[in-house]
Amino acid sequence: MTELSAIELEDVVKEYHSHGEVVQAVKGVTLDIPEGEFFSLLGPSGCGKTTTMRMIAGFEAPSKGLVRLLGQDVTNVPPNKRDVNMVFQSYALFPHMSVWDNVAFGLKQRKTPQEEVKRRVGEMLEIVDLAGREKRMPRQMSGGQQQRVALARALVNRPRALLLDEPLGALDLKLRQAMQIELKRIQREVGITFVYVTHDQSEALTMSDRIAVMNDGLVEQLGGPHEIYERPATAFVAGFIGTSNLLTGAATGGELKIAGGRVLVPGHDGEVTVTVRPEKITIGTEEPARESSAVRGTVAEVVYLGTYNSYAVRLADGAEMTVFQQNAHDATATAERGDSVWLSWRAQHSYVIGS
Ligand code: ATP
Repeated sequence: MTELSAIELEDVVKEYHSHGEVVQAVKGVTLDIPEGEFFSLLGPSGCGKTTTMRMIAGFEAPSKGLVRLLGQDVTNVPPNKRDVNMVFQSYALFPHMSVWDNVAFGLKQRKTPQEEVKRRVGEMLEIVDLAGREKRMPRQMSGGQQQRVALARALVNRPRALLLDEPLGALDLKLRQAMQIELKRIQREVGITFVYVTHDQSEALTMSDRIAVMNDGLVEQLGGPHEIYERPATAFVAGFIGTSNLLTGAATGGELKIAGGRVLVPGHDGEVTVTVRPEKITIGTEEPARESSAVRGTVAEVVYLGTYNSYAVRLADGAEMTVFQQNAHDATATAERGDSVWLSWRAQHSYVIGS
């Protein structure tokens, strides 16, 4: 990775006018994506991620703000004059052309010498693991293979950046997970900046160097997968990434009293919102030690999920907490519906949002 910025957005706004109303799809986004990074735009439907990507590609012009590629202002440059390529969910391969011809198409259009076409298409098919399948037609291939052909076709021109809009959305779960690992490997191998749009948090966590979590036209948090999961900047991020328990109230002397228990938040006083991940909580019948956060509750639901159980535990005030507990060798549940239990977790596993 170099220090050079591949893509910069400076306070970019996009407004649409429909039926006399102004819709702000993007409300002021600033991003700096270095060359060679795998960067994801993650957020729920309608948060503005596709619009943001379309402004990077040049399919939409921002209402305000600047777009720079490799330091050059391209805000008003058309898509075909920007050195970026895009891959969509529908791979749109040419159905009457072989794999080889699909990948070679762009190079031939640019009148690239035949020898070079041969070398570059060969190399690219090697990278996407389709060597030996040059003569196949798209209809003779699986969804995952077709997606790899689309990827090879988008990369063979060596764009400075590749934009991918939910490219794995049409694949089933197993194939999608396999392709996530493939995509990351391919990106590392070609070293091209990837900007990946998805609403799937596990997909973004698996592949990205950094993630921008978007909500309602704005970036709520920008950071690495670990940081976003362990130290969510807002309650929205904590709720959107994985499962989390949110506890709020006024802390005194580093302790927050909640119905039926206490949450230790060393060094914090006053109003706090605390998030605790379900896998950090232990469920048991014994009263936990003083140095743990602890709360009493009743098991409302147990869901068996193979490698772990998910418990919904109702507290005295009616609020529910979620606990994940790894299944033991004998796979019996630690607690059953209706059991009175203690939940406990270490002080360091209470993360005070915004701290
Ligand atoms: P999805 O995952 O559903 O594609 P998204 O996060 O990519 O969602 P966008 O497609 O960027 O969201 O849309 C953001 C907002 O802008 C939405 O409220 C959408 O309805 C609105 N919007 C997008 N395109 C237009 C348009 N051409 N005209 C009017 N409103 C639009």
